[in-house]
Amino acid sequence: MNLALWLERAGRSHPAAPAIGYGKHAVMDYGALALRAARIAGALQKAGLKPGDRVAIAAKNHPDYLAVLFGIWHAGLAAVPANAKLHGAELGYILEHSGARICFASKDLESDVAAHAPKSLERLATIGSREYENLLSADPAPVEPRTGGDLAWLFYTSGTTGKPKGAMLTHRNLTWASYAYAAEVDAVAPGEAIVHAAPLSHGSGLYALPHVGRLGVNVVPESGSFEPDEIFSLFSHWTRPSMFAAPTMIKRLVESGADCDPAAIRTLIWGGAPMYVEDALKAIERFGYRLAQIYGQGESPMTITFLGKQEIADRDHPRWAEKLGSAGRPYACVEVKVADHEDRALPAGMLGEILCKGDVVMAGYWKNPQASEAALKDGWLHTGDVGVFDTDGYLTLKDRSKDMIISGGSNIYPREVEEILLAHEKIREVSVIGRPDAEWGEVVVAYVVGEANAKELDALCLERIARFKRPKDYVFVDALPKNNYGKILKTELRERDTQREKKHA
Ligand code: AMP
Repeated sequence: MNLALWLERAGRSHPAAPAIGYGKHAVMDYGALALRAARIAGALQKAGLKPGDRVAIAAKNHPDYLAVLFGIWHAGLAAVPANAKLHGAELGYILEHSGARICFASKDLESDVAAHAPKSLERLATIGSREYENLLSADPAPVEPRTGGDLAWLFYTSGTTGKPKGAMLTHRNLTWASYAYAAEVDAVAPGEAIVHAAPLSHGSGLYALPHVGRLGVNVVPESGSFEPDEIFSLFSHWTRPSMFAAPTMIKRLVESGADCDPAAIRTLIWGGAPMYVEDALKAIERFGYRLAQIYGQGESPMTITFLGKQEIADRDHPRWAEKLGSAGRPYACVEVKVADHEDRALPAGMLGEILCKGDVVMAGYWKNPQASEAALKDGWLHTGDVGVFDTDGYLTLKDRSKDMIISGGSNIYPREVEEILLAHEKIREVSVIGRPDAEWGEVVVAYVVGEANAKELDALCLERIARFKRPKDYVFVDALPKNNYGKILKTELRERDTQREKKHA
């Protein structure tokens, strides 16, 4: 079934219900949004695009984003939402690799996209331009039939290493991800809002779908960036708003002194990167039990495990603290196992790679059969994440296998050390890596943003973790390297560390 039907039906059944908010203004109702998508579909079909062709969106969050996205699906095409913060050359790579025939760009990205557009790109339509307005006057098309297995979204991974790969997400995958969200994380009622502070091209866009399916209001902040003051004012304005945010964003909200009555908030969902327990506790203190966590990846969009609001609120549970440090338990629609090198399921308490299987798992990587085969061996998605189940069925993520440090033959998981260091009140951010060492194989090194000194930090580690896990070196920096989604780039940090060591040698 074509996902575009969700919007098309909403347009017929509830044309006057608010669909899109821009800042504090309701700018489009479901009738208008559905008509816009149908006209965009008509224009794309008139331009000669055939079902399965790709159409890219290189735009910051924009009130027209969902009209374009659903318009692409409405015409039976596959969307390629690209992160607006990418460099022009990276956008160019995605356009070329996906073979997109048309790209919708926001005004600020127009020249960047034009400068790096590959030959395969036939047309660049800038949202808001006269050409775009012309598209909107096309005759509305009927929804093109699609099957569950048809490609809907080429989801380019954030690429913390190497070139991004395009995870092929089908209409079925996105339907399951949306149902799983509404059933287990955050039921959406008509009129309830979601504030899209994170990119619609990535996590937040996935969460827009259940909000369209359930007649929610998708709200785009006007500032175009993440401003805690603005987010709080939107929380106070809209009905029972929720928001998906990376842990760094939640942290900024917690640290912001802005006024906000947490009672206005429905749910704050964090995911995409680890949230340290220390930070989760502060967030609970600030927002109460309105937090939920999801663990997923582009390849199994947002849907592997979740830690629901009720569990986070269940403070009397004897293992509450452990649960808070975990990524929760599997969604009902996926099988999840922690496996050894031969993909055999390991019992609770043993560390291994996290594998998952189900209707939410991608069809493979676009134009990359080798990577697809490796990632989907025997029908299981190999996440590359390392984790451990406890006997209650909760999954705790360790680090990605490539980030694990082996020092003197012992495995050290950076996150464990990072959690300890972050407990220091003067530490804002930290990333722990392994540095090659002739004697130990690797030694533990902590890159730290904050005012504490090495001696204090060492004392803290001695108090709380085994001696061999203590960093042998602390490097104090102003900022840590991050990708466009705010994820710390350990690979880059390791490279910087190697250069730094060479200089000091
Ligand atoms: P992406 O495909 O860019 O969304 O990145 C997915 C990766 O982010 C996963 O494979 C994990 O390594 C990490 N990740 C996602 N959610 C969580 C979470 N709740 N806790 C820790 N790491 C996470």
